[in-house]
Amino acid sequence: MYDVCVIGAGVNGCSIAHFLTKSGKKVALFDKDGIAAGGSGAAGAFISPKFSKGGELKELIEKSYLFSLDFYSQNFPSFLKRAPLLHIAKEEFDAQKLRAFKENTSLKITETPLQVSQILREEAQKNENVYLLNGGVVDAQGVCRAMAEGTDFFHYEVKNLVWQDGYYEVGDIKAKEVVLAYGAYEPIIHEPYINLRGIWGHRIDIHTSTRTEVTMHHHVSISKCEDGNMAIGATHNVHYHPQKNIEPYDINEGREELLKKANLTIELKNVEVLKDYTGLRSGSNDYLPLIGRMVESKNNFDEISYYPNLTMINGVGGYGFVLAPYIAKQLCEFIIDGKDVDAFLMPLRFYKRYIKGLQKSR
Ligand SMILES: Cc1cc2nc3c(=O)[nH]c(=O)nc-3n(C[C@H](O)[C@H](O)[C@H](O)COP(=O)(O)OP(=O)(O)OC[C@H]3O[C@@H](n4cnc5c(N)ncnc54)[C@H](O)[C@@H]3O)c2cc1C
Repeated sequence: MYDVCVIGAGVNGCSIAHFLTKSGKKVALFDKDGIAAGGSGAAGAFISPKFSKGGELKELIEKSYLFSLDFYSQNFPSFLKRAPLLHIAKEEFDAQKLRAFKENTSLKITETPLQVSQILREEAQKNENVYLLNGGVVDAQGVCRAMAEGTDFFHYEVKNLVWQDGYYEVGDIKAKEVVLAYGAYEPIIHEPYINLRGIWGHRIDIHTSTRTEVTMHHHVSISKCEDGNMAIGATHNVHYHPQKNIEPYDINEGREELLKKANLTIELKNVEVLKDYTGLRSGSNDYLPLIGRMVESKNNFDEISYYPNLTMINGVGGYGFVLAPYIAKQLCEFIIDGKDVDAFLMPLRFYKRYIKGLQKSR
């Protein structure tokens, strides 16, 4: 019998599995395709704050950015590469957000990029930008595998959950608790109040003779160059879903688009594409993650009932590697000590909105 079964071995599943295992729990980790085989394996995995005016999401990501840089450097230092981060506005709308961000943030910003090439300095001078010395990129697959150590991993697609006699049956195993961490893939439990949207993305690792010391976010995200190697990635395709589309994704077209957009920021010379990674990231309607207990919809709206011992962690959008350690720690404290997670992150918020909508329409 396992204490907890985690379904989905992306950064969310591996982060919660890591905290639970560290707290002494016996954890079974399931994934249909392998560890970090979904959106997480495709991520550029840049650790960056959200450059926006304000609001709950920006505050949450800023806290998580500081937490996760510390978390990776203390626990998984060999998978974290530190590099300054240059974020350049694409258009006036972005520039306004960046100006507001700079006025309000407590993060230390260096106005003039010091270590960047001439071409990049010119691009940054033409457009509003933010330069942070404290940035980083993690090795997405490496860190997920490292976080999963200490769990029992099962390469298995979970089709349904059976709860009986005080435990769940998942495939051939039994567990007292289940955490759903299956990203933007087909849900195992269908609840009408949960609407997660998958956005398809593509990352390429390239070899180039162009050198840069900083990571950049402009039209696409571009990592710093090490030994001539660089990662370029973006999540941008809202129309493609691997479980819904019949036509396969056009890798060559995706590559060309990434390289074309990267060349708007930095001139890439002698490019050889080494590897492609693709995957889905999942986002919620209010762009905030979902962590905590799953509400079970019933006809009786006056009473809120929950699935027994069932929680979820999902909806981390384009900031999975930033948010996951911070929110997984909260979820672990809830599972182990019953400590409340932040109310604005609970699935319950969507259930309440759903009920309100139903009541209005009656
Ligand atoms: C190209 C790209 C670039 C990105 N860049 C960044 C970045 O720079 N920084 C950042 O922080 N974030 C980035 N992201 C976002 C980040 O990757 C996602 O937010 C994160 O991966 C989501 O993690 P997850 O664990 O929720 O989902 P996933 O990684 O998709 O994991 C879900 C897992 O569940 C498994 N699964 C699904 N259904 C079942 C089932 N029924 N049974 C068993 N297993 C199942 C899947 O196989 C999958 O492995 C990027 C994403 C992409 C695609």
